[in-house]
Amino acid sequence: MAQRTADAEREVVHSRFEQEARSRILLVEELIQGQMLELDALRRFISLESELTRSEFSSLARLSDRIPMTVAWIESVSADRLDAYLERMDYYYHFRYHLRRPAALLASQVAKPPRHFPVSYQESSVPEANLVGVDTAYLEDRVRAYERAMVGGVPVLISGIRNLDDPGDASGVLVVAPVFHEDAGRGVTDRHFGTLRGFVTMGFRLSDLVQWLSTVHQDRPGMILSFRGDADPASGSAGPMIAGLSYTDTLALADGAMAVTAVPERIDAWQPRPTAIVVLLTGITGTVLVAALLGTALYRRRQAEASVERRTVELRGALDALSELEARWQFALEGSGDGVWDYDIAKREVFFSDGWKSMLGYTRDEIGSGPDEWVELIHPDDVAACRHDLMEHIEGKVPYYENVHRLRCKDGSYKWILDRGKVIEWAAPGQPARIIGTHSDISHVKQTELELRETNAFLSGLLASAESVAIITASQEGTVTLFNRGAEALLGYRAEDVVDKVCPTLFYDHDELEAWGHWLSAQAGRTVHGFEVLKAGIEQGHFASERWTFVCENGERRKVQLTLSKIRDGEGEARGYLAIATDMTDYLRAVDALEQNDRLLQDLTANVPGVIYQFLVRPDDTSCFPYISDGVRRVFEISPEEANRDARKALARIHPADIEEVDASIRKSAKQLVPWVSEFRVRLPSYGERWLRGESTPRRTPDGGTVWHGYISDISEIKKLEFQLREQATIDPLTGAFNRRHLESYWKREMARYRRQEEAFSMILLDIDHFKTVNDAHGHDVGDEVLVSLGRLLRSEVRSTDVVYRLGGEEFLVLCENTELDGARRLAELLRDQLRQRAMPFPGRVTASFGVVEVELDEPMAQAFKRLDELLYLAKANGRDQVMSSPYESAL
Ligand code: GH3
Ligand code: MG
Ligand code: MG
Repeated sequence: MAQRTADAEREVVHSRFEQEARSRILLVEELIQGQMLELDALRRFISLESELTRSEFSSLARLSDRIPMTVAWIESVSADRLDAYLERMDYYYHFRYHLRRPAALLASQVAKPPRHFPVSYQESSVPEANLVGVDTAYLEDRVRAYERAMVGGVPVLISGIRNLDDPGDASGVLVVAPVFHEDAGRGVTDRHFGTLRGFVTMGFRLSDLVQWLSTVHQDRPGMILSFRGDADPASGSAGPMIAGLSYTDTLALADGAMAVTAVPERIDAWQPRPTAIVVLLTGITGTVLVAALLGTALYRRRQAEASVERRTVELRGALDALSELEARWQFALEGSGDGVWDYDIAKREVFFSDGWKSMLGYTRDEIGSGPDEWVELIHPDDVAACRHDLMEHIEGKVPYYENVHRLRCKDGSYKWILDRGKVIEWAAPGQPARIIGTHSDISHVKQTELELRETNAFLSGLLASAESVAIITASQEGTVTLFNRGAEALLGYRAEDVVDKVCPTLFYDHDELEAWGHWLSAQAGRTVHGFEVLKAGIEQGHFASERWTFVCENGERRKVQLTLSKIRDGEGEARGYLAIATDMTDYLRAVDALEQNDRLLQDLTANVPGVIYQFLVRPDDTSCFPYISDGVRRVFEISPEEANRDARKALARIHPADIEEVDASIRKSAKQLVPWVSEFRVRLPSYGERWLRGESTPRRTPDGGTVWHGYISDISEIKKLEFQLREQATIDPLTGAFNRRHLESYWKREMARYRRQEEAFSMILLDIDHFKTVNDAHGHDVGDEVLVSLGRLLRSEVRSTDVVYRLGGEEFLVLCENTELDGARRLAELLRDQLRQRAMPFPGRVTASFGVVEVELDEPMAQAFKRLDELLYLAKANGRDQVMSSPYESAL
């Protein structure tokens, strides 16, 4: 009984030990399998991306939080792609990436490997582990593993790896998973590296695993686990092996297996309980034994239950990790704002991500998982094309499914969606089981595209129909590709006769083109002619805007202003050449004629002594000389520009005494539109006073102003002459009477004769009565007529020897030669009577008052005149219309 009890007890201990060992090995297995899943997710991601960026790697590589670990991306780089690879790394590492040999091999001479396997990216929780840049092609064991992985197309395991930095520890385990070029697929059986992109690797140390395990179950008896990496995978199925208190199991890992052996840390921790021994030793009854056996059974059951519970918890953890992984995928895909769908064809079930739903304005619960629901949202016009594209992929004609179609949003509007997907599982060839894809909202792109298309149509319509400019485009080869209506009108060709048929050089003047050709040839050092001339000129920017001669269909030549440029597409690639021509022939003719006119005017004005002008008075009374010839510098001593701006400076030069009259005459001319003629003085800063004469003809401007065209001449010389002449003249031009100048010389002559021949002479002074009234009542002109009439009367009534003078105003003098007082007095009275009766240019009469003296011998002229004035004064004072010959007459 005791023996059996002892056996049972041993069995219990063994069983407990086995349970404990199993649970620990299970933990290891789960940890490693979890990491393998992570590694496979990473591998799949890389195989779907054309290029793996450094940040993508670091966000997707997952390290265990239980043991230190290194995950790396090792790229396969052929020697001829090395430069491109290094360039890429320079970009990701900002020029701090260095390709290097493993530290252990630095000193030794090793042949350069034919292909590089550098560590591109690395994520590690091993302190101070940095393998980035290490070319693992130098490591034989790695290369062998790479080849194995590549050939098998599955992850492989190598163990006994020495840490590159700590060669003393050889407990390293490395899992290498190959990544192939997407299209090549897995399972490449030859050694063709071309389809290989690289490897994702995961490395950790078994010693760290042991270390971790010892901390997991601190409350339980200690256990030492040891690993052997080269176990036969098949032995896993042979089942555990228990010898003494040790337990060995096989752990399948990648393509290999590891034997894990557990031994107790301290054997006494696994000794049977003293309580049981006491019971045994006391050798008490079978019930006790039964109880013991029952206890053992119960204990084992409890152990089993605890193990299951643990396992459940751990499995749940693993599941959580898995769904976390899934969520990360979605997150990564939806990070760009895209929606993700996952179609399980067998189950007829589609998973739509939240992003997918919200893109269309739906919440999570508003869209089910039926594929029909989806198809219904597709715009009816797009369904067929969408199906077609999907079939193309399913039939293997294209590696991806891709289609752009419209999907109906919740609000009824449509969004343009770029739909991309790929079959990831096949039920049988040609029979997909599962498709995963993404939706990107490209409505804005599509909108821009539509707008662009509309704009393009609009623009080309515009170009073609523009009639006033000729637009011609040519292909790079030199054929006309567009010939718009303006070009037809200018050149006389019809578009259908030239487009795609002729070279644009047809329209150019041959000599001009050749001249440019010579010049460009000299520049370029090679012969350039024909269409090449246009091309080269445009390329070098010479022909931005030039005058050219175009030759029309009928041989006529037309001068054009031509803009030549290159046509580029969106990418800036040259697509052809564009010529925009404006016909300048008529314009140039007009300019020519104008220039000729200008020259003529300049020549004319430069040679006339005065100034030719256009004078403008605006409705607001401001004025200027829109045109004035250069003579203004002399005539007004101002510049033409000053006069152009404002007339005030010129007008300010006018003599203050004349300005009022000039101003009045201009106003009169403007008001009545009668020619303006005026003589006036100007005072000039350097020349002094000038006499000017202006003549011009007014015209009304549309805005109600007035413009004069005319001429101002310098009449200073004429005026001077006129004054001299007037002074020299002895005859009053109005009345034909002599003037005072004559009188002086005549007086001298008469007095001489008096002295010589004793012939006395007399003088009659007369002044019209109230002449001012005549002027005031009838005007100055009428007054003048009266004076003329009086002059005639005097000259007709006196003797031929008597001389009539006009002394000024309406004062006349008659000098009677060889006449004594009486005779003169009689004559005066006769004149008085004649005048009184004389008809005047107005109804009424004119009278005058007279004074008469006989000049005494040698009497000074002033004295005689003083006497005359006094007598005249007396006549006036006495009532006018009378003759006074002595101071006493009135008294008579
Ligand atoms: P009275 O001699 O009787 O005292 O009166 P009056 O009105 O004639 O006065 P006074 O001799 O002072 O004025 C002369 C006027 O004659 C002044 C001027 O208007 C006018 N007169 C002077 N010369 C001319 C001229 O050449 N033509 C005209 N139409 N009028 C003149
Ligand atoms: Mg008078
Ligand atoms: Mg008078």
